Amino acid sequence: MLKLVIFGPPSAGKGTQAQRLSKKYGIPQIATGDLLREAVANKTPLGIRIKSYLESGRLGPDDLIVQLISDRVSQPDCADGFILDGFPRTMGQAEELDKMTEMDLVLNIVVDPEALVARAVGRRICQKCAAVYHVRFNPPKAEGVCDNCGSALIQRNDDKEHTVRNRLDIYTGQTAPLVEHFRKKSNIVDIDGAAGIDGVFDLMVKAIDRLGK
Ligand SMILES: [Zn+2]
Repeated sequence: MLKLVIFGPPSAGKGTQAQRLSKKYGIPQIATGDLLREAVANKTPLGIRIKSYLESGRLGPDDLIVQLISDRVSQPDCADGFILDGFPRTMGQAEELDKMTEMDLVLNIVVDPEALVARAVGRRICQKCAAVYHVRFNPPKAEGVCDNCGSALIQRNDDKEHTVRNRLDIYTGQTAPLVEHFRKKSNIVDIDGAAGIDGVFDLMVKAIDRLGK
C-alpha cells in the first residue's frame, strides 16, 4: 500500500508527475477537480450539492470534498494505494485526512515563483490550431504569428502577470500551513521543481523508494 500526496504550485507540472507515478506504481491518481466534475456530471446526491458551489466559483465546504475523497479511496482500485492531487487544500481537509488514513509521503514540488511567472507570462497561444509558443523559450519564426497556420498569437488572460501572481499568492497562502502540518509529522519531502520533468520524476521515485515499500 502506497499513499502519496503531491503538492505544487499551479503550472509546476503536478498533474504530469502524478500521471507518471500512477503508471510506475500502478496506483490511481485522484484529482479533486476531476472528482468534483464527475460527481456533478453523474448527478450524485453529493454532486447536486457541489454543483451550486462550483457555479459560484467557490470550492465547496471541506466536509463535501472529504466525503468525495473518502468514497473514492474506498474503491477497489485503491487497494494498493493512491496519489492525491489537489487534496488536501485546507487545514480542515488535512485534519480530516489524518482521521481517515495515514499518508506515506507528501511530495512537495518547490519552484521559484519568478521562474513560474516568467514561463506563464511569455506563453503565446494560437487561437486557431492551439499551438503553444513562448517568446523566450520557444519563439515562433515570425513574432506574433503561428508557424503552423499563420494566425495571430494571443496571450491568454490566465497567463497575464497579475493573474499568475494572484494564483501563486493564493496557492502559497493555502499551502504554507499544510506544508508545516506535514513537516511536523515528518512525512514530507521537498522536490526541486527546477530539475525539469524527468529530473523531478527521478527525485520523486528516489524519495518513494526510500520508504522501502
Ligand atoms: Zn496556428
